[in-house]
Amino acid sequence: MALDSERWFSEPFSEEGVAFSLEVTGKLHAEQTPYQYIEVYQTTHWGRLLVIDGCVMLTSRDNFTYHEMMAHPVLFTHPDPRNVLIIGGGDCGMLQEVLRHPGVERCVQVDIDEGVTRASERFFPELCRANDDPRAELLFQDGVQYIQDLPAGSVDVVIVDSTDPVGPAEGLFGEAFFRDVYRAVADDGLIVQQSESPILHVDTILKDLHTAMRGAGFSRVATLQYPVCSYPSGWWSATMASKGADLTQFREADAVSKPFKTQYYNAAIHRGALAVPEFCRHLLTDQ
Ligand code: SAM
Repeated sequence: MALDSERWFSEPFSEEGVAFSLEVTGKLHAEQTPYQYIEVYQTTHWGRLLVIDGCVMLTSRDNFTYHEMMAHPVLFTHPDPRNVLIIGGGDCGMLQEVLRHPGVERCVQVDIDEGVTRASERFFPELCRANDDPRAELLFQDGVQYIQDLPAGSVDVVIVDSTDPVGPAEGLFGEAFFRDVYRAVADDGLIVQQSESPILHVDTILKDLHTAMRGAGFSRVATLQYPVCSYPSGWWSATMASKGADLTQFREADAVSKPFKTQYYNAAIHRGALAVPEFCRHLLTDQ
């Protein structure tokens, strides 16, 4: 049975023989920027839907698992994160999660495309509540270039909240980029990168990402797993790397007593997300 394309937004993954569809009642916004094609839809059950170049970026209903699992595990793994850099993240949902941590003194968000942030401010205001926080700085430029110009050792945590590794985001997945991140972060600094779907990408993007991070000098690499219902396969990952710090240890007592509410993240979820499924073990462990 073919879906009515007026009623359903569909994102097909032809190479995997699968598609994801959401029922929509209308298109609220469409814009070709110098970098990508941005669309916003109203769905029947998932709130609003942000799409870039035909790929689902987020829905109002389920973006919390992604934003919380990209922000809180790495911030509770670092001993004292004060200076945080987000590369990508133009919808501002990540910025909001990072700034829930009272110890963070500065968070710079560098997205290549101002159009994403302006669309998010208009259609997803609930993600943009921290944009006026005095600790936030929103820049619009290429993250690959930005990181090259940073003073060595000047950042505690880098969060790469990018689109898929094609187009403007391709450079954010390569070893040269991770070498620049390695130089920019302090000795106890950490990076976390959205690393696509374990079930679909374990032998491609995930494997290449581990290799690139290690090749750049990061001696510890660990992947967290969590659900994102609206992404390909519904099963997603974030990959952290350090210059030596054990990524299986985190400030568990602080995570338990965190002074803010979450919808998904807690200390037990953090611990569980680090568990390595058997089909990933050969690629993802430090051994
Ligand atoms: N959570 C989403 C996902 O995993 O599909 C990502 C959402 S966020 C909107 C992705 C952002 O990365 C976009 O706003 C895009 O403009 C930005 N981006 C892509 N390449 C970039 C680059 N080279 N430098 C900075 N931002 C980049």
